[in-house]
Amino acid sequence: MNEFELIARLTSGLATNPSVIVAAGDDCAVLRNVDPGNLLLFKTDAIVEGVHFTKEAEPEQVGHKALARCLSDIAAMAGTPLHALVTLALPRQFDVAFVEGIYAGLNRLAARYAVALVGGETVTNPERILISIAVLGQVAEGKCVLRSGAKPEDALFVTGKLGGSLAGRHLDFEPRLTEAHWLVEHFTVHAMIDLSDGLAGDLRHLLNASHVGAELLASAIPISRGARLMAKADPSAKTPLLAALTDGEDYELLFTVRSADAVRLLDSWKQKFFATPLTCIGKITAAPTVLLRTKDGPRPLPAHGYVHFA
Ligand SMILES: [Mg+2]
Repeated sequence: MNEFELIARLTSGLATNPSVIVAAGDDCAVLRNVDPGNLLLFKTDAIVEGVHFTKEAEPEQVGHKALARCLSDIAAMAGTPLHALVTLALPRQFDVAFVEGIYAGLNRLAARYAVALVGGETVTNPERILISIAVLGQVAEGKCVLRSGAKPEDALFVTGKLGGSLAGRHLDFEPRLTEAHWLVEHFTVHAMIDLSDGLAGDLRHLLNASHVGAELLASAIPISRGARLMAKADPSAKTPLLAALTDGEDYELLFTVRSADAVRLLDSWKQKFFATPLTCIGKITAAPTVLLRTKDGPRPLPAHGYVHFA
């Protein structure tokens, strides 16, 4: 199959939405502008075979992950994804079924969130598969949540459970778009980030952007089953708490609201998203340090998370 036949096959029946005037097939995609009163969001992200997925992964999961990572970033701004371009780098000898599987995974996730896959390109890369995706989205002016808005005494929340994502979740996580929209609809979210590099590291990005610090409560950190199982299977591996603090690719949301909203938030979240935990893991402090409070008291938490635990 030559490149043109492959592209024709991959681009037939792609997910679309009403803002697309011309999708794949012309020199550029032609799109309607964002809705009035909205800002444009623009994001790109790439995944590479051997780094973000292995040959053993299901191709649908690979496609899912490539797009879901971008959608997770759009969620972290409380935005709505609209359009995506997909650049696929393939070895000269590639498995057509595998590539079609990647597109099936991309397309299924795109359709679920009404994201139009409006084109892209395929290139040759001698060694391994690379998938680069650029996403356009929009967010209502005044609803966009940045990393930089956290204030001292804010309550710090995280969705889901953390750590152990390599056990499987990194390939099939659901971007928290629905949750993020609900949050900004019902609460004033001061600052938000999605967790791609691990709680200890990503928390720092949010704190630095906001010029504040935080105190975390070790016993409150929600630890995933995967992190517990991995620690149990290999006693020399990270403790479950350390995994929850430092493992990457959780793709959960970390955000702050004023502390007076914390109880109402937890109550209404439980009614709306009963299957997804929401946990208050600590508070924002004026002092620009990160402390982890254990039963032995507070101590500094380095970005790599390696605190000596009793
Ligand atoms: Mg991000």
